[in-house]
Amino acid sequence: MEQKIIEVNGLRKEYGDFVAVENLNFSIGKGEIFGIVGPNGAGKTTTLKMLGGLIRPSRGNIAMKGLDMSRDSVEIKSFLGFLPEESPLYEGMSVDDYLIFFAELYGVGKSEAKKRIRNLLFDLSLNADGKRIGDLSKGMKRKVAIARSLINDPDILIYDEPASGLDPMTSRYITDYVRSLKKAGKTVIFTAHNLYQVESLCDRILILKAGKLVTLGTAEEIRKKYGKIQYRLEFKVDGIEEYSISETKIVDDNYVVTTSDIDIVNNTTKWVAARGGDIVEMRTIVPSLEEIFLELMGVELFID
Ligand code: ADP
Repeated sequence: MEQKIIEVNGLRKEYGDFVAVENLNFSIGKGEIFGIVGPNGAGKTTTLKMLGGLIRPSRGNIAMKGLDMSRDSVEIKSFLGFLPEESPLYEGMSVDDYLIFFAELYGVGKSEAKKRIRNLLFDLSLNADGKRIGDLSKGMKRKVAIARSLINDPDILIYDEPASGLDPMTSRYITDYVRSLKKAGKTVIFTAHNLYQVESLCDRILILKAGKLVTLGTAEEIRKKYGKIQYRLEFKVDGIEEYSISETKIVDDNYVVTTSDIDIVNNTTKWVAARGGDIVEMRTIVPSLEEIFLELMGVELFID
């Protein structure tokens, strides 16, 4: 990992007796895209809010650029951009006025603010034409919220479900935009439901379940660790009653053996050949990250 920019130690959040996030430990490198994935209620938003300094951890600590969130949150927030899952926007304001308003809150001077807004709107391909925020489409509103998160030119971006609930094109656009932020040297932490997006976008993925870390690594590492490769052998033969190497299923009048044991594949192939049968197809099944995720979450999968 490159230089660490965020360090999280023993992070925990309780709501009354309920533990929403338990003992999280991880660090994030400068310029990394870090995805947090998990089912509803896993603790993703709670974790992001603690990282954004919006709620206090019950235990543990967060350091960013060597500063401690519990002591230096004002300084930390000056280099953070936070995008909440649902961003309340001022519906009656024009996009420009709204962004200038936030730029001023961050102490960005008016002419610099105007320049930044022009560039952001261009980069996000958001052409609002002086419209009121209330009249924009959902995707455009999300882009306004993203522009707002960038108005103070932050180094670290914390995005809660940046592309969820948007049409595929806007969603794709936002994903590509996040990639461009990395190129510009920014560090991005985000949550998502769509594992496909996470896989193609993230340098590393943290999978959360019931507030606990299930696994953390690159998509490749997670696949290696949890994804068992399976072999599927389909054949035709007479006298299947005498076959005892493995279980078979019947698909399209052929017999199918699915196994992760290569010896079963070899022995079955020999047995079929010795009986004068034919191998119709042999293929390897590599599980997708989505399948691994579902398995880690305790959802059983069946492969035909
Ligand atoms: P996710 O973002 O993964 O869907 P959340 O972080 O929103 O999960 O929530 C994790 C758990 O904490 C959920 O069970 C949720 O109901 C609970 N929770 C979140 N915020 C509060 C709160 N303010 N008070 C009580 N419980 C909360």
